[in-house]
Amino acid sequence: MNGTAHAALGSAIGYITANTFDTSPSATVLLIGLGTVSALVPDLDIDGKLRGRITLSHKLLRTAAQIIGVLMIFYSFYEGTDTSKFIGAGIGLVILLLSSRLKQKHMLTLTGIGVLAGGVSLQENWLILFAIYILIASVVSHRGYTHSILGIVFFGMIASRLETSLGIHGVYYACLTAYISHLVTDSKFLPFNKRGIKLFLPVSSKEM
Ligand SMILES: [Zn+2]
Repeated sequence: MNGTAHAALGSAIGYITANTFDTSPSATVLLIGLGTVSALVPDLDIDGKLRGRITLSHKLLRTAAQIIGVLMIFYSFYEGTDTSKFIGAGIGLVILLLSSRLKQKHMLTLTGIGVLAGGVSLQENWLILFAIYILIASVVSHRGYTHSILGIVFFGMIASRLETSLGIHGVYYACLTAYISHLVTDSKFLPFNKRGIKLFLPVSSKEM
């Protein structure tokens, strides 16, 4: 499936989660946003093998890096204390500016390093884990580890720590379900998908 379809499904999952958990209006908006982003996260791996072959991927990566930068600024102001608030927001701003200017292919790796710095300065475990996820995704091949059970487990760890940090019910559920929805709709489970996903990496590289 393409990015738009993944994103639409993710936002629907966020909305359904909000209704299930009967959340406040602001938490509902947050869950829809998190669902949308989580449903796109597995494709952060397009910086790997596909890089250079598809012209669209660079634009998409730039947009992804910009969104991460903006989220980082907002999150730092919302969750950070004193100086870490400004350090986090500053790093977010650097990511935003760099991703808008850089035309090189290692943009995602740089974004990962920026998020790691932000996570350390804010002392947020979920952000540090997400940075590690981005760094791994920037080097592995497309539709590989991010589209496997290992990827689900890793992302689940990020989502559960994010829920604890935000203190909002439904965050873990919305993020993880949206992530899984990406894998299901990329798999041969859908008859129009000719290529599947290697769900059981590294044990088996059979496409499901
Ligand atoms: Zn995908």
